[in-house]
Amino acid sequence: MRSTIRLGKIFGIPVGINASWFLVIVLITFLLESQFGLEFPRWGADQTWPLAGITGLLFFGSVLAHELAHSVVATTLGIPVRGITLFVFGGISNIAHEAHRPWVEFLIAIAGPMLSIALGAILMGVAYITFDWNNAFYIVALTLGWTNLALGVFNLLPGFPLDGGRVLRAIIWSITGNYRMATSIAARFGQGLAVIFVSGSVLWFVVSGEPLRLWVVLIGLFLFTSASTALKEVRQRDRYHGVTAGQVSEDSCIAIEGATLVSELVERKFMEKSQTCFLVTDGGIPGGVLPLQPIRDTPKSLWGALRIEQIMTGLDALPQLETTTPFADLLDYFEDDNPPPAIVLKSGINIVGAVTRIEIERYMNTRQNLGM
Ligand SMILES: [Zn+2]
Repeated sequence: MRSTIRLGKIFGIPVGINASWFLVIVLITFLLESQFGLEFPRWGADQTWPLAGITGLLFFGSVLAHELAHSVVATTLGIPVRGITLFVFGGISNIAHEAHRPWVEFLIAIAGPMLSIALGAILMGVAYITFDWNNAFYIVALTLGWTNLALGVFNLLPGFPLDGGRVLRAIIWSITGNYRMATSIAARFGQGLAVIFVSGSVLWFVVSGEPLRLWVVLIGLFLFTSASTALKEVRQRDRYHGVTAGQVSEDSCIAIEGATLVSELVERKFMEKSQTCFLVTDGGIPGGVLPLQPIRDTPKSLWGALRIEQIMTGLDALPQLETTTPFADLLDYFEDDNPPPAIVLKSGINIVGAVTRIEIERYMNTRQNLGM
């Protein structure tokens, strides 16, 4: 996500805040302050503002705790987490890839809401014990208790990409054994929820005349977009069912000797055919891969002096795929920000080629143009 400020790591998981989140925290502090001002007319601004500020920050902590619950369960179950980002609609755990088993997905998805509900229950307990309308501690515990309960329950609503939608997907997936069908059903539920949110909040706005109710419209639209993206992805994956890495890597990276100078390489005929990566060989034996980026990063004045083996990436540093690797896994791999090329092996030994993101996109474009 762009314009994200890194905060540091918690449990080894990088945490960042998107600029849009500051807008929310300011808005929430303002809302809380005006609410505290109404509820406690005897309190002065010197009391309501700090209280609103502290509650706002603790709310931020609650959303973070929710995301950490997802992330910690994911890493515990062996699924790496790239980081957590807090943004305008809450938090996102950037989990490296989808779970391979329904129960793993179920546990990761349910962890967040369960933590929020537990936290909410504890805070309500604290509020119960400290009950006193003049006690600031009680007010904060009560407000956060409700907020966490609401956060937990809202996220359990059964529509993808909400946590509840993921839980639903995991359940359908475990019953039918069909991941794609489960995703598409959960995403349809997500779209349905979004429609209910949008129409409900517009109606609410019309009846109450309060523009803040329209906030839910934005949440609904966000939900609808995410659910539709999930559906599109499922359809896309369906379209490439049966396609393998071997097919995509065929003639993708042509072999060229490592002693070739960079200047020679860029002047050769095949550059006109917009070749995007090369398999660098040493006496015919593959030693590395050279995509276009390192050539671009090398100053033109050095092109006549550098051999391509000096700017290639060695095979050891590159991820390996099998010719039989399904296209869906390629899509997963190349979803990352700037992934290195992957080498494609036959039977785990023979290198048949390499693929870069550009090849994947080109392959998809060609198929699309052919109406396949
Ligand atoms: Zn969640």
